[in-house]
Amino acid sequence: MEKFFQIAIDGPGGAGKSTIAKAVAQKLGIEYIDTGAMYRVLGLKMLKNGMEFKDSSDLRMLLDNTSIDFRDGDIFLDGEPAGHLIRTQEVSMAASACSAIPAVRKKMVEAQQKMGESKNVIMDGRDICEVVFPQAQFKFFVTADTQERARRRFEELKAKGENVTFEQVLAQIKERDLNDSTREASPMRQADDAELLDTTDMTAEQAADYICEKVRKTVK
Ligand code: C5P
Repeated sequence: MEKFFQIAIDGPGGAGKSTIAKAVAQKLGIEYIDTGAMYRVLGLKMLKNGMEFKDSSDLRMLLDNTSIDFRDGDIFLDGEPAGHLIRTQEVSMAASACSAIPAVRKKMVEAQQKMGESKNVIMDGRDICEVVFPQAQFKFFVTADTQERARRRFEELKAKGENVTFEQVLAQIKERDLNDSTREASPMRQADDAELLDTTDMTAEQAADYICEKVRKTVK
C-alpha cells in the first residue's frame, strides 16, 4: 500500500495558519484541508436554524443530515458553496461554540481522517497534531503575538467591508483563544512533538518555505 504523508498544523486564530497551509499545498502540489471552515459551516447552519450551541437530539439529527466537502478550493455545505459566508465575526463565534460539543467533534474528526487517509495533505486546525493525525510525519504549532493576530484579522475583515473596530477584533480573538484552550473536548494546545513556529515577525511566505524545506528533506 502506498504511504501518504500528513502535515498537521495547529494554532490560534489569526496566526496565519491557513495562508501558510495554502502556500505549502501549492508549493508541494498536495491538498489543503481547512478544518476550521468545517466548524464554521456547521456553526452557520446552527445559527440559521436558530439552534442552541449544546448537545441535543435536534443537533444529532442535524449532524446526520449535514454534508460538508471541499471542491476546487471551496467548502460546500449540503452541496452549496459556502466559503463566502463563513468569515464574519458572528460565524467565528458560532464555530467556536459548536466546536466545544463532543458529538460535533466526533463527526468532524472522522470526516477529516477520511479526507487525509488516501492522499498527501496539509491540514490546519486546533486538534490536528494530537487527535486527527497523531501519526502525522510533520507537526507544527503556528502562533503569533495576540496584538499582531488581531491586527491581521482586523485588516482582513476591513478589506471585506466588515464594520468592526480593532478593539472588537482583539476582544474576540482573546475570547476565542480562551474558549478553544479551556474547553473539555480536545482543547487547543501545542502537542509535545509539534514544532513551535512563531510568525509574529515572519511573512506567510517565509513560514511556508520553512515548512516545505523540512518536508522536502524527508520526503524524496
Ligand atoms: O481556524 P478557524 O479560526 O477558522 O476555526 C474556527 C473555530 O473552529 C475555532 O475558533 C475553533 O473553535 C474551531 N476549530 C476547532 N478544531 C479545529 C479547527 C477549528 O475546534 N480543528
